[in-house]
Amino acid sequence: MSGRADIAVVGGGPAGLSAAVNALARGKTVRLLSSGKTNLKHAENVDNYLGFYKITGGELMDRFEEHAAALGISAEKGKVLNVMPLGGYFMLNFAGQIVEASAVVLAIGTAKAREIAGEAEFLGRGVSYCATCDGMLYRGRKAVVWGLAPDSAEEANFLHSIGVQVVFAAKGERPENLKPEIPFIPEAVSEIVGEGSVSAVRTGGDLIETDGVFILRNAIAPTTLVPGLETQNGFIRVDSRMQTNIPGLFAAGDCTGAPLQIAKAVGEGLIAAQAAAKYIDSLGK
Ligand SMILES: Cc1cc2nc3c(=O)[nH]c(=O)nc-3n(C[C@H](O)[C@H](O)[C@H](O)COP(=O)(O)OP(=O)(O)OC[C@H]3O[C@@H](n4cnc5c(N)ncnc54)[C@H](O)[C@@H]3O)c2cc1C
Repeated sequence: MSGRADIAVVGGGPAGLSAAVNALARGKTVRLLSSGKTNLKHAENVDNYLGFYKITGGELMDRFEEHAAALGISAEKGKVLNVMPLGGYFMLNFAGQIVEASAVVLAIGTAKAREIAGEAEFLGRGVSYCATCDGMLYRGRKAVVWGLAPDSAEEANFLHSIGVQVVFAAKGERPENLKPEIPFIPEAVSEIVGEGSVSAVRTGGDLIETDGVFILRNAIAPTTLVPGLETQNGFIRVDSRMQTNIPGLFAAGDCTGAPLQIAKAVGEGLIAAQAAAKYIDSLGK
């Protein structure tokens, strides 16, 4: 779909699929954007989701996706790095492209990301979460990529291709697809240091001098995703209509808090989609 969608749903788990199906049922255009890893696939045995006694999480997820696909909804694969509220509409930075939508439903599950020392302090002053967005700032300069997501090596390769002096740090083996010219450190980044801006990162026992560090996690904390979003104990704060503190931005599923269960995620997806549709109607579009 080109042009502005009515509703962008971020996340293709039970909450996101439910939101997309129900937004469509309300006659709205939908884009479903998902990096693709739902928690549900890890469930060996689900026996508390009504109507599907003794089913695996993988099978149940397949059934949800088949239902959505039958209505013409399939997730566009990629990570949303940023959601910008622009007063009346939103711009989403999605897999290297900009997606526009009148309303957004966040259905991003739980973010397990734990911040490291210096991360918040140097955000925007050497700490970045997006190679595509900020890579050009480091052309001809040094940057450490801390690869926590499966696509991190590709991001490091991209930075190298635009002239950044990249070092790749990640626990475990050197990724096979990492360009041979990029040095590899088999350690996590544990601390970011500097004065005013980043000057080095600590990996293992060593300090590595650098101008910047790209932290490439699978999960992005909701407050990193949307500037100004209110949370409570790490979960997105919503009202009974799944409305966040930002007009036009709704949230559903595990990301809004306990109980972290499929039935709640599916139910909240429905409420969020209906509330988003009503919000769009109130804009008079
Ligand atoms: C081992 C295990 C067993 C479980 N067993 C049960 C059970 O028996 N019964 C039960 O009710 N529940 C069970 N659960 C919990 C259930 O899986 C969750 O409650 C449910 O998956 C929540 O759905 P969700 O859509 O909110 O989040 P998720 O299923 O986590 O989906 C989140 C989606 O958002 C996407 N995403 C996240 N960030 C971004 C981003 N920045 N850009 C794009 N996409 C993004 C992810 O890729 C994913 O597709 C179990 C969970 C686990 C781990």
